[in-house]
Amino acid sequence: MLAYTAPSTVEEAVRALAGASGVAKVLSGGTDLLVQLRSGRAKPDLIVDTKKIPGISDISERDGGFVIGAATPGAVIGECEALRQAWPGVVEAANLIGSTQIQGRASLAGNLCNASPAADSVPALIAARATCVVAGAKGRREVPVESIVTGPGRTSLDRDELIVEFHLPKRPPRSADAYLRFIPRTEMDIAVVGAGVNVTLDAAGVCTDARVVLGAVAPTAVLVPDAAAALIGRALDAAALAALDQAARRACRPIDDKRGTIAYRTKVAGVMARRAATTAYERAGKRR
Ligand SMILES: Cc1cc2nc3c(=O)[nH]c(=O)nc-3n(C[C@H](O)[C@H](O)[C@H](O)COP(=O)(O)OP(=O)(O)OC[C@H]3O[C@@H](n4cnc5c(N)ncnc54)[C@H](O)[C@@H]3O)c2cc1C
Repeated sequence: MLAYTAPSTVEEAVRALAGASGVAKVLSGGTDLLVQLRSGRAKPDLIVDTKKIPGISDISERDGGFVIGAATPGAVIGECEALRQAWPGVVEAANLIGSTQIQGRASLAGNLCNASPAADSVPALIAARATCVVAGAKGRREVPVESIVTGPGRTSLDRDELIVEFHLPKRPPRSADAYLRFIPRTEMDIAVVGAGVNVTLDAAGVCTDARVVLGAVAPTAVLVPDAAAALIGRALDAAALAALDQAARRACRPIDDKRGTIAYRTKVAGVMARRAATTAYERAGKRR
């Protein structure tokens, strides 16, 4: 029989997960988990609903950066003006998830821990150097977002662990991010390729720091240091864009299916990386 609990503290949630006799699943918005329950793909013995934990669906500013509760819905993220100003790429990625109805529920923790290679918020979070706080029976640890997903449907979390919150760092001046995805329809589809780019420029418009992350082209989101290297030390000229395009293509290990061949996905990854980089540069250039 399926049991359900809705703890009011993180410690209670950890105790419930640690004490579960069979498979336990954490519930945030449920937009993945409920679909999987109905289809029979997920058959947990216990559901631990986090939404009654204070702060788990809130956004706050700390040390010049942001703390986003694990279960904060996309709609709330999109309405936070300060977050939109500081991290437009993270917000546009979170807001691309699903439809208006889905946005009322879908969270960053659920998007990450569902561990789909095509999850939209994940490349943007990794490009942003976001970290997450993981709570478990041994206490809390703060880890980079890229350390969570280990493969399609798999994470590095122990069975007694859940994500409590995400941290986005303080932004340096002349710094901005962007996320773009390609889907075959205009909305409500899974990314064939996603690209998150985060850049910092100097006063002359030369890139001093960059992170480039691709989604949907490998079993997990791919951080591409060669693509960042193509940008750093240069203005965003044609040569830099061409080098970025090539580095993005080289990083692809995509599947071949009805929604895109390997060759197609690889080519589109270069295009998405160039376009996301161009938007991030334009945004960064407008900031002092
Ligand atoms: C119609 C539709 C359209 C969609 N469109 C998109 C899209 O465009 N882009 C996209 O990326 N996704 C899309 N999705 C998938 C889904 O909406 C997202 O992945 C969403 O962000 C999941 O968040 P959630 O809070 O609903 O997760 P849940 O369903 O609550 O959880 C998902 C998984 O994460 C685990 N989990 C949840 N919270 C935690 C936590 N705090 N700690 C540890 N593990 C946790 C759960 O146990 C479960 O395995 C779509 C889904 C639907 C139904």
